[in-house]
Amino acid sequence: MNEDTINEMIIKCPACAVEGVAKSIMKEIEIPHFGKVMETTIQCPSCGFKHSDIIALEQNDPAKYVLEINKNNLSIRVVRSQSATVMIPEVGVKVEPGPKSEGYVTNVEGVLTRFESAVKKALNLFEDEESQKNGKESLNKIQELKKGNGTATLIILDPFGQSNIVSENVEIMEIPEDELHDLKTGFSHIEEN
Ligand SMILES: [Zn+2]
Repeated sequence: MNEDTINEMIIKCPACAVEGVAKSIMKEIEIPHFGKVMETTIQCPSCGFKHSDIIALEQNDPAKYVLEINKNNLSIRVVRSQSATVMIPEVGVKVEPGPKSEGYVTNVEGVLTRFESAVKKALNLFEDEESQKNGKESLNKIQELKKGNGTATLIILDPFGQSNIVSENVEIMEIPEDELHDLKTGFSHIEEN
């Protein structure tokens, strides 16, 4: 991956509104067999706020990407935009876009690591017996997959076609109409009464 810093500037922090300390960094990342993505990271040393997002510079159609996770696929490049839903059904984990969701460029192992920390966080938050049991099972499966043991399915659904799994083994399909309708986009919307 080639990275090129395009722009660095000091901005007013979007979280704490302190002027003159938060840094916004824009990077252009060239991903082989995919194209260029723009990564924007905002970091504020004053309040600890950190957010990153990516924008694909080459437009794709809305798509569902399906890849088998196995020991040979851990280093496959994954581009997740802020508006994408990421899930591993066999592990029982799913991340939907929300106001705090981040876009990132990583690999399959990196996606597993992100799910691992999310499950650990949930284990600390939800202390009831069922959540603990389900959480520990998910955690165990994720950790085995990271070691290359077993298989599972990585699914990315992106209504704006900004995400990708860069592999010849990925299955790319259209998002069925009913699934597209149910997808969260991360944008807030107003319910009609
Ligand atoms: Zn701040």
